Amino acid sequence: MPELPEVQTVVNDLQIITGDTIIGFWSDFKKAIKATTFEKKILGEKIKHIKRLGKNIIVELEHRKVIVAHLKMTGKLILNPNNTLAAKRLEDRSKHLHHIFCLKKHGSLEFHDIRKFATLDLVTPEKIIEITRSKGLDPFDKNFTLQNFTDIISSKQDKNIKSVLMNQALISGIGNIYASEIPYEAQINPLRKIADLSKDEVECLYKSTLKILTKAIKLRGTSISDYRDAKGEKGGFQHHLKVYGKAGKKCAKCDTIIMKNIIEQRSTFHCPTCQL
Ligand SMILES: [Zn+2]
Repeated sequence: MPELPEVQTVVNDLQIITGDTIIGFWSDFKKAIKATTFEKKILGEKIKHIKRLGKNIIVELEHRKVIVAHLKMTGKLILNPNNTLAAKRLEDRSKHLHHIFCLKKHGSLEFHDIRKFATLDLVTPEKIIEITRSKGLDPFDKNFTLQNFTDIISSKQDKNIKSVLMNQALISGIGNIYASEIPYEAQINPLRKIADLSKDEVECLYKSTLKILTKAIKLRGTSISDYRDAKGEKGGFQHHLKVYGKAGKKCAKCDTIIMKNIIEQRSTFHCPTCQL
């Protein structure tokens, strides 16, 4: 599932269509669209601003309309310089292409989705404020300071690091991949409880969170299975994973076999020697 670095990469790629106008829309899977009369409301609207909100992609239009796209498991937003809505191309389309935004200057913005869990919605700016409030602190928000990070994780003393990092109501955007990679970077066992962490370890975890997410954005995300950027290309962080998906393999630092544990139904990976 795309996490913060993958969604940020897509958002960065989509900046090119800011200022463009939506002149057409097509969908063969309207169940994914939460808003009613979506097409009618977005036609002729100019794209003012595109940003990330947690794992949501927010496309601000004129007239107080905001498109909210969530990639969920396998959604992909891909820019195609051609007008995909042209009859011939639509006929030959991939069977996973479910929505197309036709743009005045930049061809088409295609929404592909294999598993069909991805969603589209059209909301007001007030709703965006409400969504923002319901989410945990974003690691790239100016308020994501060491003090605030400490306060946030301290509210869950009896929980383990992995589940706290993944708790979207506390910290927004971290999923299973980075919640394994961050504790490895910090050399802390992800199964430990927050209450057991020293002040130095909390600081190390904080710095590792920013370091790993920043590096992952720089490398354009992790493509283990379906994730692709808005150019349809793979990210590069999968070549830098140290523990995620590496159970039974040797740790690159110490040769110890990487362990896998299941926490809250999700696989968690760590090196029992490097991560104490
Ligand atoms: Zn190790």
